[in-house]
Amino acid sequence: MIKAVRGMKDILPPETSRWQHIETVARQVFACYGFQEIRLPLLERTELFSRSIGASTDIVEKEMYTFLDRHGESVTLRPEATASVVRAFIENRLDQGAEVKKYFTIGPMFRYERPQKGRYRQFHQINGEALGGEAPEVDAELILLLMDIFARLGLTEIALVINSLGCPLCRPAYLLELTALLARKGRDLCEDCQRRSTSNPLRVFDCKSKVCQEILTQVPTMADHLCDACVQHDERVRELLGRYEVPYRSNPRLVRGLDYYNRTAFEVVTTHLGAQDAVAGGGRYNGLIKELGGPDVPAVGFAIGEERLVALLSQQDEGLALPPLLYVAVLGAAAMDQGFDLVQTLRRRGVAADLDFGQRSLKAQLTMANRRGAAFVLILGDQELTAGEAPLKDMATGAQQVVSLTDLAAICAALQGKGV
Ligand code: ATP
Ligand code: MG
Repeated sequence: MIKAVRGMKDILPPETSRWQHIETVARQVFACYGFQEIRLPLLERTELFSRSIGASTDIVEKEMYTFLDRHGESVTLRPEATASVVRAFIENRLDQGAEVKKYFTIGPMFRYERPQKGRYRQFHQINGEALGGEAPEVDAELILLLMDIFARLGLTEIALVINSLGCPLCRPAYLLELTALLARKGRDLCEDCQRRSTSNPLRVFDCKSKVCQEILTQVPTMADHLCDACVQHDERVRELLGRYEVPYRSNPRLVRGLDYYNRTAFEVVTTHLGAQDAVAGGGRYNGLIKELGGPDVPAVGFAIGEERLVALLSQQDEGLALPPLLYVAVLGAAAMDQGFDLVQTLRRRGVAADLDFGQRSLKAQLTMANRRGAAFVLILGDQELTAGEAPLKDMATGAQQVVSLTDLAAICAALQGKGV
């Protein structure tokens, strides 16, 4: 038996209907906020990610699916979408025009991580990106959009955590101070953090080690070192979140796993998914477009982890309503022919209808209808064909009514009555 590659998982029905639901809701909310869909390649030149995400981040150091193509060019399955969005923005000259360019994209990402609950090697994200806006209103709009998606999905047990990571004016001084401090704590930090403390000091805040976390509670944070402009930006974002009653928590130690963020950084977390508690994350990435060879355009974005969202929603409710189904039980070859015709006609009218091709007993077909969650079963045998009418059984109540086989409208009406 050939199995799926480790860490890559099949998404099967009925779970797929939940994915569709999430994506439909997300698309509707994106549309309300003027975000348009962008579809990007899964494969990019490796350099795109190493230059944007940052050479000494977990993603680039150990999580990328990188390989040489047949011409010896190094390519990578995208570990995240922002870098590709920026690449496409630059390459397609999408910066034309003064308005903020707002895009969303939905699709798979690839990271070579240790597979576990909530952590896969192929996983899916819903991304929103707004390019070309410096104003704090753009950050606020994006966060409001994100929280609207969760609200429309009926997700309540989540918390928004925000921070400001400063800007090229105020961050360097803080980083110097942090590096010096970490050097003094040196030996007490874990091996990873000792390395990070010189190569990428902010990353230490992301360390999961208890010892490091304890040490870091004594370390000053970026929040105390923000310049006036960063403070004002941050305050305006918070003011707007407050105005629309989006509760948030400040975490001055929130840094995010990618190097390109500045000013606003945020995460949406839950207490219901164990260790993998982040459902979404994002932030502002003002320098990235220029860094990748494009114009000096500020931007902000987020990514929702779809697997974790699906997991949360399935904890919360019983499942999704499918369109009411009519199941036609057929007894004999003539009934099969008529049943096939009836089902086909109904489907073309937009009704979900199905039948069994196995020539099974009525009992077996009723069991099947039950398993499929059919709203109604129409029972068709030779007798019914001759009479031109057949019993229509309501599977929820057990009630039966006799309907004319030519009166499709009555059948449709019965099903519509079951609609959601
Ligand atoms: P984590 O701290 O859980 O590793 P991250 O900071 O690496 O997350 P981001 O790069 O911000 O994650 O990606 C945004 C979202 O994508 C995360 O909040 C999470 O929901 C989801 N995600 C990230 N990596 C994985 C993975 N390997 N499997 C499933 N979902 C993931
Ligand atoms: Mg990660």
